[in-house]
Amino acid sequence: MAGVEDRPILFARMDQLANWARANSLWPAQFGLACCAIEMMATAGSRFDLSRFGAEVMRASPRQADVMIVAGRVSQKMAPVVRQLYDQMPEPKWVISMGACASVGGVFNNYAIVQGVDRVVPVDVYVPGCPPTPEGLIDGVMELQKKIMRGGRPVAPAMQAGGARA
Ligand code: SF4
Repeated sequence: MAGVEDRPILFARMDQLANWARANSLWPAQFGLACCAIEMMATAGSRFDLSRFGAEVMRASPRQADVMIVAGRVSQKMAPVVRQLYDQMPEPKWVISMGACASVGGVFNNYAIVQGVDRVVPVDVYVPGCPPTPEGLIDGVMELQKKIMRGGRPVAPAMQAGGARA
């Protein structure tokens, strides 16, 4: 029987271990804003199986979530709610902007839609497409995992009430 001295030992910095654990156990906040949310739901289903990447535990409370997936266009009326949900999430936390509408307003170039959710919350990863495929969202999750492993943190933009950039 092998003694303790024969067992392999790995050395790592504490922050690297924490980032490794965080990257592989993301808990998304469970909410959707428009059609992109249907693709997000499909991503968590058995066909695409987001749980392969440890990010399938959608939480109904922002207090239990550490990643916000903004799936759909953000109306001016909804922007303060999105910001409130973000503020209620504990640190560290990250944001994925899913789809053209969430990222830049998409086809809704009008006064009712926020022209990019990064005017409301700091975004870590943008997923392109209208709608993005479940594979596209999974790619976004993997990009976020790489960012977390690197220890990257978002820079919060200047905010105004109602979601407009200062
Ligand atoms: S990007 Fe396309 S699919 Fe997503 S919310 Fe906008 S219109 Fe709907």
